[in-house]
Amino acid sequence: MNPETRILEPGQIEAPAGQIRFLIPPGRDLFARRADRLRHLSHGHPMGEYLAFLALLVDAQQETLNQFPALTLPDKAEQALCRRHGMPLLGSRSMHRNPAWRTELTNILQKMNKAALPPAASETIACLLKASENRLEEMADRILAGDLSDISPQELPFVAAALQVYWVYMASTLGEDVFDRLDQGGICPVCGSYPTSGIISSTETGQGLRYLNCSLCASQWHMVRIKCSNCESTHGINHFILEGSNGAVKVESCDDCNSYLKLLYLEKDRHMETVADDLATLTLDMLMDNDGKSRCGPNLLFHPGIR
Ligand SMILES: [Zn+2]
Ligand SMILES: [Zn+2]
Repeated sequence: MNPETRILEPGQIEAPAGQIRFLIPPGRDLFARRADRLRHLSHGHPMGEYLAFLALLVDAQQETLNQFPALTLPDKAEQALCRRHGMPLLGSRSMHRNPAWRTELTNILQKMNKAALPPAASETIACLLKASENRLEEMADRILAGDLSDISPQELPFVAAALQVYWVYMASTLGEDVFDRLDQGGICPVCGSYPTSGIISSTETGQGLRYLNCSLCASQWHMVRIKCSNCESTHGINHFILEGSNGAVKVESCDDCNSYLKLLYLEKDRHMETVADDLATLTLDMLMDNDGKSRCGPNLLFHPGIR
């Protein structure tokens, strides 16, 4: 990997805070765009088969989101209460989950069952279709708490996919105005989850701003650049790119807390997508792992245990 020289200070190139759009909710076509990108990246990629398999899963997420039943969402009183206490309104660890997420998991599994899948994937689907409510809820609790130690790598993407659809449905229905910044800038102001990656918008259309991308609800929130999203330190921040790459994906690592976050520079490639391009650059994770650094947040479609 090539270390890069630090040339900017936090906020140096940013517009005044009041002029910056702080939160961008997920679009209702999120999963369709993600599936397209996964398919594109799968061609000629060493993990091409896996990326193509995930594209099918993400297709199923889009179909499920398109038909998601209307749910009762937190009302104005709850919204005001959360804002007053600086709590995420759709807190992934605190919110009572509507059982609809399990119905939608079944939908996703049934859609996937119609695809031509490897026998191992079909077995996993059959096993999850038979799983008890308790087992699925326990799995959801663990995944949302970031504890993947007892979660099977084969089952994780399916269960996480259903949870993502549920949270994307809620975040995209409520819109950006009901949410406020949290004290902790590195967690999602909508659901309190950690980011999968960050994007740097192009200087022409997006002022070169950095947005962090929620691993669960896919909301994007603004955070100044050259600042660790995990511990908010502005010292000991280093950037790396893969040798021979065009630098569209960089790793930003922090010496203070030993964590790192991938950043996607849309100016270099405007087609990049936060989850898909993260999965296509797992080599960077292996190199950072060898260097003793850990990710700031998960990619819920991939269990780090099988890296
Ligand atoms: Zn979120
Ligand atoms: Zn840090």
